[in-house]
Amino acid sequence: MKIVVIGLGHMGGNMALTLHAAGFTVLGTDVAESARHNVASRGLTVISPEVLPDADVYLLSLPTSAHVREVVESSPGLLQHASAGSVIIDTSTSDPVVTRELARKVVEAGLEWLDAPVSGGPAGAAAGSLGMLLGGETATIERVEPMLKAMSARYTHVGAAGSGHVVKLANNYLCAAHLLTTAEAVALAQRAGVAPEACLAGLNSGSGRSAVSEVNFSRWILSGAFDSGFTTGLMRKDLRLARDAAIDQGLSLDLLNSVVEKWHADSGALPDGADFNHITDAILGRASA
Ligand code: NAD
Repeated sequence: MKIVVIGLGHMGGNMALTLHAAGFTVLGTDVAESARHNVASRGLTVISPEVLPDADVYLLSLPTSAHVREVVESSPGLLQHASAGSVIIDTSTSDPVVTRELARKVVEAGLEWLDAPVSGGPAGAAAGSLGMLLGGETATIERVEPMLKAMSARYTHVGAAGSGHVVKLANNYLCAAHLLTTAEAVALAQRAGVAPEACLAGLNSGSGRSAVSEVNFSRWILSGAFDSGFTTGLMRKDLRLARDAAIDQGLSLDLLNSVVEKWHADSGALPDGADFNHITDAILGRASA
């Protein structure tokens, strides 16, 4: 199976290297020379983004739906260029409305589509232990199953094209909310004389635990490392998309709106490139990034 990975940043670069190590034929490309150099120095073959070769699979890991649209629709984009039967897999966290439109055009052009947004960060991408949420046809998933297995510890088929991206936005909304609520729980305990580490040990043995309390606090927040590889700018984008998805469905979700507003207020001074765990600085009274 020949795979072209488009977007070699924190996630795409590591996914490309993982697939290469698993024995697939992988070519990588990125508009940024630094991203191409980073994976080329680790043994991956990189190509110019202007001329994409024929491939069985085009795996996209791009910042936003606008970038995905450009790669798929621009001239010459994958719609014009890719051979019939090729599969386009969008692992980015994208806007489901755009995803459904692009998936329809892709299928009309004789190609196949999967949205396959991921969880687990750059470390999960490097270890081949990502969680993946799949939107698309079962037959397409079966065609690319070997590469999905190489990249992920578990993948869940949640519905038709676009469904993976809907559930990913729901997931990131919860992650964003857990960062705020867990920081408030830790601040409360601290004011009452309980050390953050002791508070988290207690929470993690109780029903208030989450990936944020079990992983983010020890690995990136209390340690001061703040090197998760996921940025504040990307989480702000995901929360905007989650709120837009609710509006599209005619839903007014009070807690989602509050989380988006709180993130907007507390991350106001954080640059797009700051680690997203810095959102807890304001609540925990830490100096900002
Ligand atoms: P990143 O900014 O590190 O990488 C994106 C890469 O895409 C960049 O290297 C950029 O140069 C490249 N790019 C942009 N336009 C391009 C084009 N037209 N052709 C080729 N390359 C192009 O971002 P990331 O952290 O790797 O995230 C990628 C996607 O995955 C985002 O949608 C993000 O929300 C999602 N995601 C990230 C994480 C994480 O922990 N970083 C986790 C889950 C999901």
